[in-house]
Order: sequence, then C-alpha cells, then structure tokens
Amino acid sequence: MKVVLWDVDGTLLLNAARAGRLYDEAITAVTGVVPEDAAPNEHGMTDAGILTARLHAYGFDAALLPQVTERLNALSEHAYSGEHARRQAPGVPAALAAVSAAGWTNGLLTGNSPTRVRAKFASAGLDPALFDWDRSWFGDATPVRADLVQRARAELGDSLAVILGDTPADGVAADAAGLPFLAVATGAYDSATLRGTSARLVVDDLVSGLPALLDALAGLAQPSSARR
Ligand SMILES: [Mg+2]
Repeated sequence: MKVVLWDVDGTLLLNAARAGRLYDEAITAVTGVVPEDAAPNEHGMTDAGILTARLHAYGFDAALLPQVTERLNALSEHAYSGEHARRQAPGVPAALAAVSAAGWTNGLLTGNSPTRVRAKFASAGLDPALFDWDRSWFGDATPVRADLVQRARAELGDSLAVILGDTPADGVAADAAGLPFLAVATGAYDSATLRGTSARLVVDDLVSGLPALLDALAGLAQPSSARR
C-alpha cells in the first residue's frame, strides 16, 4: 500500500486568524485562570505539544493535559461556525481525487484530535470520507510530532508512506521517521522557507503544484527511488 499522510492546518485547511484561541479557553475551563497570552509560533506543533507548553508556561501541572484535551474537544464541536468557520486550501478535493486515482491512499497525520478534525472539516465542507481514518494518526495525546510519525511508520509496516505538510516541523518529524516530506506553501511558511527543509518537493499550492506533486509521488513509488 502507498499512503499520503496529509497534515490538516495550513495544508488541507487554511489557517484560522486566531488559531490559538481555543487552547487557552480549554485551560481556563479546567484551571479557572485566564492566561495573559503571548502565544509563540506554534505552527506544526501537535495539540498535546501546544497544551503541554502552555500549561508549563502558565505554571500548571502537565498532568492536566487529559482534562484540558477533553475540554478542547468539547469546545471544538461548536467553535468553527460563522466567522470562525474554516476554509479549504485551494484545490484540495481535486488533489485528493488525483492522488487516489494514482493509487495512493489518503490518510491524515495531524496534531489535532479526530474530534477536532471532523469539526474543522465539517465547517469547511470537506468530506471526511475522502480519507482512510484507519490509516490516520492524531496528535492530541502525543506532544512531539516526530513520535507520531514514527508510530505511523511502524504501524504502516511495509507500506510506502509520504508526509505532506506546510511547516518545517512536518519535515523534521518526517526526517526523524525516515519518511519523505513533500511541502505546500499554503500555511504559515513561504516556499523559500520550505525549500530550506528536507522537502523533496515544494509547491505554492495544490492547484498549480498538482502535476509536480503527482510526478513526485510517481517517482517515490518506483523501486529505484523508494526508500523501502
Ligand atoms: Mg500544518
């Protein structure tokens, strides 16, 4: 089996203007404290990584993570409506269809929980049935993204897998697991920055970059260039 592991935020969905608002709301709901937030750049971090870092920064015990995660999931069920509805990145359904037609399974590898992915997809009108949820990995309990990718690789066995994401953190995580990384610049990082990563390919978006993406996948699937 050949699997493309799609990142969600910045890759399938455009980033939200206030991407971090729910994390502090979930922490406040559990601790009763309203943090004075000066959130650093958290693009590419998993939900568990972001919440663990914020709990630490605010002086709380990281053992609160499961409670805060539960609250984050509950908040997310209703968070993405009206002005907070998420939008698909350009060309997503066509890219998913083309990748599937080329013989690849579309999976997810994201820092979000399944609950949050489903809520975001629903608000963006992206059909969750376009993905194989049994070949998807979620970072709501895994602070370090590379650990998530390593687990995916182990559980995928002999399958050929590729990470497709929008941040240098996706590349670092792919590198740590020995998986190839393909990058799209629809998130927080421009093409020039992404070309400074291990990415085999950097495309501006999934519309103009789709032919190159399909070429890159075809190249990876050839025995001579496949890593495994
Ligand atoms: Mg992302």
